[in-house]
Amino acid sequence: MGEKFDAIIVGGGPAGCAVGALLSKRGYKVALLEKEASVGGRASSFQHEGYTIDTGSHFAAAFEASGMKAIFEEVGAEMNMVPVTPTLMSFDLETRRYGPLTSKEKLGEDARDDYRAVRKIIKEMTREELEKREYHEISANEWISRVTSNPKVHDTFRRATGFAGASMSEVSAGAFIETMHDAWNSTHVVNYPAKGGCLSFSQALADRILANGGAVYTETAVKQVVIENGRVTGVKAIKTYSAGLTVTKIDFDAELVICAVPGSQLFSIVEKKALLPDLVSKVEAIIAEGTIYCGLLVGVKEELFDGFGDGQQFFQFTVGLASEHWHGLVTVPTYIDRSLAPPGRHYLICNSHGRLPLNRRNESAALHEKCLSALRGIWPGKFDENVEWLLRAEYMNVLYPPRIGRSGPFRPSLAPTGVHGLRIAGDYSYPCGSGYGSALKSARDCVSLIDSSATQTA
Ligand SMILES: Cc1cc2nc3c(=O)[nH]c(=O)nc-3n(C[C@H](O)[C@H](O)[C@H](O)COP(=O)(O)OP(=O)(O)OC[C@H]3O[C@@H](n4cnc5c(N)ncnc54)[C@H](O)[C@@H]3O)c2cc1C
Repeated sequence: MGEKFDAIIVGGGPAGCAVGALLSKRGYKVALLEKEASVGGRASSFQHEGYTIDTGSHFAAAFEASGMKAIFEEVGAEMNMVPVTPTLMSFDLETRRYGPLTSKEKLGEDARDDYRAVRKIIKEMTREELEKREYHEISANEWISRVTSNPKVHDTFRRATGFAGASMSEVSAGAFIETMHDAWNSTHVVNYPAKGGCLSFSQALADRILANGGAVYTETAVKQVVIENGRVTGVKAIKTYSAGLTVTKIDFDAELVICAVPGSQLFSIVEKKALLPDLVSKVEAIIAEGTIYCGLLVGVKEELFDGFGDGQQFFQFTVGLASEHWHGLVTVPTYIDRSLAPPGRHYLICNSHGRLPLNRRNESAALHEKCLSALRGIWPGKFDENVEWLLRAEYMNVLYPPRIGRSGPFRPSLAPTGVHGLRIAGDYSYPCGSGYGSALKSARDCVSLIDSSATQTA
């Protein structure tokens, strides 16, 4: 027998923390179990050379319209966000022009009008319309082509969305439409936390679990979800102390267990044979498409940015050649929160945005070189001398692109699992691909299903 809780949440990423905060707010005695030393998951932060560096997520898009803000408000979590305006900039290595990605100067008059036409159609769609199944059966490119064939418009959306590195001909129109709809219906398309980097999202939610009398166990890895006669009864976990020096087995009992681990790790804690075969095969299809991000994390001297951007924002910009498919994405979080770096310093994050399937990790070196040459192209003869440290991220983490005909209207967090009391949450459970939006929407779906079964039981 282990300690008894009403609900156990396995995984302390954004989805697990949101489920925990929502359930504890409803009066459930909750335990959140996270295998790492802190919550945050793929949207966490780490310390290096006095810098706080985001491991994955660099911003929250569509904070309002995606429903994220509503979740924070419902649970009473404080989240002070700074809007990024104008949203996304671009640096063209050929023309050396820096400015908003969708400016008239960049797009030209015709393409700007077509871009606005696409925007108007999507912005005015109802939720019911944009969730149509048929949009998940065609590509984003195919859908945009119904409005315009202008290559500049297609290229702009490719740069702006960056769905886990997948191209617009690979991702579903459904994911594209919903993502852009939420972005354009928010007061600000992109926000960044005012303090503490991206880890602060999950931290704020986990704090609510504690405030509501729940428990958050870090360095606690769940080894097995215990299922007896088709019902969950709890989990078996291992707690490590002091960087793995001591290991203790602990059991937790609960009749409700929510698995909020990445899709790729679901079957390491839940036996496939206990689950409905349809659920297993669909989740397997989603996780088989996982891709990885490779990029550079670079600490640079303040002087590098002297005069950069002519007073325009430089939080985030795409960099590349208009003629090439490849483009990098440079993010400078210290533009917003100076306390993320030692005084007088900035850091950059350059994501390759080149899709690298899991079995081709060894090609990351080539993508690193592309990122590096792009940075040298922005600051010719000046970049290297201003670098203080540079990390090559070989394998940052898995992302799930929203593929055509793949996830579609299938949402594991709303689907029956075949096991009484077992529920699923996580970004892969929502058909818009990886991101806070999907993670938190899956949490909302998962909790609404728990709410409705509680009502039926009552
Ligand atoms: C490089 C990169 C850049 C990104 N950029 C953005 C961005 O700019 N904007 C955006 O919105 N999103 C971005 N994302 C995506 C975003 O980070 C993810 O979509 C989000 O973190 C998913 O949340 P989650 O809770 O579903 O999963 P996760 O964040 O993966 O959380 C799952 C948690 O489960 C824990 N866990 C796993 N197994 C166990 C176990 N057995 N026992 C206990 N705990 C366990 C893990 O340690 C982890 O903390 C990015 C991701 C990456 C990798």
